[in-house]
Amino acid sequence: MARLSDPVTLLKGVGPTKAKQFAALNIYTLGDLICHFPRGYEDRTRLIPIEKLEADTPSCFRAMVMNTPRTAHIRKGLDLTRVQVADHSARLTLTFFNNKFAAEQLQYGKEYIFYGALSGDFSGYSMTNPVFEAMDSQPVTTRRVLPIYPLTSGLSNAAMLKAIRQAMAVCDTPPEILPESVRREFGILDAGRAYAAIHEPSSMAEAELAKKRLIFEEFFVFSAGLSLIRASRAEKRIPAYHTVELNAFYDALPFPLTGAQKRAIGEITQDVSSGFPMNRLIQGDVGSGKTMVAAAAAYLAVKNGQQVALMAPTEILAEQHQQSLSKLFSPLGIRTVLLTGSMTAKQKREVREQLSLGQADIAIGTHALLSDTTQFANLGLVIADEQHRFGVSQRAKLSGKGNDPHLLVMSATPIPRTLALLMYGDLEVSIIDELPPGRKSVDTFLVGESYRARINAFIRKQVQEGHQCFVVCPAVEENEDLGIKAATVWADTLQQTVFPDLRVMLIHGQMKGSEKEAAMAAFAQGQADVLVATTVIEVGVDVPNATLMVIEDADRFGLSQLHQLRGRVGRGGHQSYCILTTHNRNTETVSRLKALCKTTDGFKIAEEDLKMRGPGDFFGSRQSGLPTFRVANLSMDLQTLKDAQQASAQWIDTEGTSDTPEAIALRERIGVLFQRTEGTMN
Ligand code: ADP
Ligand code: MG
Repeated sequence: MARLSDPVTLLKGVGPTKAKQFAALNIYTLGDLICHFPRGYEDRTRLIPIEKLEADTPSCFRAMVMNTPRTAHIRKGLDLTRVQVADHSARLTLTFFNNKFAAEQLQYGKEYIFYGALSGDFSGYSMTNPVFEAMDSQPVTTRRVLPIYPLTSGLSNAAMLKAIRQAMAVCDTPPEILPESVRREFGILDAGRAYAAIHEPSSMAEAELAKKRLIFEEFFVFSAGLSLIRASRAEKRIPAYHTVELNAFYDALPFPLTGAQKRAIGEITQDVSSGFPMNRLIQGDVGSGKTMVAAAAAYLAVKNGQQVALMAPTEILAEQHQQSLSKLFSPLGIRTVLLTGSMTAKQKREVREQLSLGQADIAIGTHALLSDTTQFANLGLVIADEQHRFGVSQRAKLSGKGNDPHLLVMSATPIPRTLALLMYGDLEVSIIDELPPGRKSVDTFLVGESYRARINAFIRKQVQEGHQCFVVCPAVEENEDLGIKAATVWADTLQQTVFPDLRVMLIHGQMKGSEKEAAMAAFAQGQADVLVATTVIEVGVDVPNATLMVIEDADRFGLSQLHQLRGRVGRGGHQSYCILTTHNRNTETVSRLKALCKTTDGFKIAEEDLKMRGPGDFFGSRQSGLPTFRVANLSMDLQTLKDAQQASAQWIDTEGTSDTPEAIALRERIGVLFQRTEGTMN
């Protein structure tokens, strides 16, 4: 028996060339091969009489060869083989191009199983290049459900199939990790059967069952892992904070806090007074005032003699935080410093020295803040603003760092509860569900192309009143997907033809990080009237003077994403607007977009998005904090997700530390998953 960790080159027919092709698919070991799951299936189990074959629908049929195949040499490089076949119902002519194999193998008077699609023309039906197998052969390409694998150039589906079949024959499938009780409760295949059936299902239904099992397994492992991280943190004891009088802090604020902000601060206060490291997510819509909640947490830490690291996703956001927080804190005798990559070496050295000597209390920067070169005298609280780039394993790593600092993560992306459990199962959650008073909601409209002149006039009007506008496009450059607006082209059009007298600027994801930041900073400083952008502005800088956002081809975005984008305006005191344009007249699309015009509740919108588009969007590339799911990505099944979560929570409670073979194998898998996640995130 071979082992799952053995290299693929162990297999017959897999030499250096094949190995390289497999490597392109991240397949190195037999285990990788066995975990290379089909992206779909073709049902080739049913045999159909020739008479019943339908044009353009590939099917299997059993037929006898009625003559000796005749090959005609049409021209150089083109040989044509024709053969007549028949079953009890009808006759059919098969045509093969350059197929020596068919010409030699098909024998007069013998029966074969064919698989192909009928094509019809005026002279009747025929079939081109069907695959075929002799009746007495082992079914490989016919008489079965054929798995279709993700492939790479040079590697055929048949070769992949053969390699996987070999691997399955020479080694055991990955061990069972789901407890029997769970499998029984949720009607789930055991591991051995699931792996066999995902690659060689006896029916489409069995393939579905196998897929369900593997999806369940992935979710189960992931949520169990989160629960374990959480449980292991709960064992860590640290000194509880002493009570801090917050009045001085409140008095320093330019406004009274909202009830929701106070509630979140209350929850944080409890966490830090508990004697355990805090792990809390603050979720609140853009503009709900999360920064001040973070500031309160920082105040508690500093008043307890500890330092704080505040990480922002971009340098410019870090600078913005530094400005507002130093203004707030310096009168209170609290020293904030900025540490970013674009500072000079000398500046950085000075700041690092202050931090290591404890001469600065709050360090604001990007993720580089937590690199090994930055030493803190006494780091007690880490705040991550916009959590997406601060994933599970970074969080896990943090708790192992130094003396278990408290962690506060802030997110402006409302995520439905089920998904939140999956993404932040290791965190407690506070929700800020109230906007500061006087905030006007962003008036949102959905219009078609016939409104173009009015949109342009409206942009001009906003600019004339001294305000700025965002115009968001779904693509950076023009591509095959004609008809959708590309930021580069549209910026050009707006500047050259529509608003030659205004200042139009461009920002998109293909620009260098520093270029993007410079463009964003320039716009924030009022150096342009109109900023044409892609979704890069989603997580971004406060531009209170921006009062209008036009989102082109809005149907190209998810609702949550649109909501997120819309949050870029309405940040000052002025009435703000969002105009969604679309060419799409599909009623479902229109009603989806109209929902956005009616509500500003991010959670409601997220739920709607989940219902309409499934969880895929929430797991998009933006959410880099999540591991890549192998099967789960392919078909996100919400019910399976919920079941797996429930089951894993139960398992942790009852069997989390047990020594059954399943429990041991599961803990091993969890370890591997979180290691791998880490690798893809750094
Ligand atoms: P978030 O980070 O949640 O998107 P911010 O913390 O940046 O929101 O706050 C958005 C704006 O609202 C800031 O200009 C901030 O000063 C202001 N703000 C925050 N809390 C209040 C409040 N309670 N009352 C009035 N304005 C507030
Ligand atoms: Mg913020």
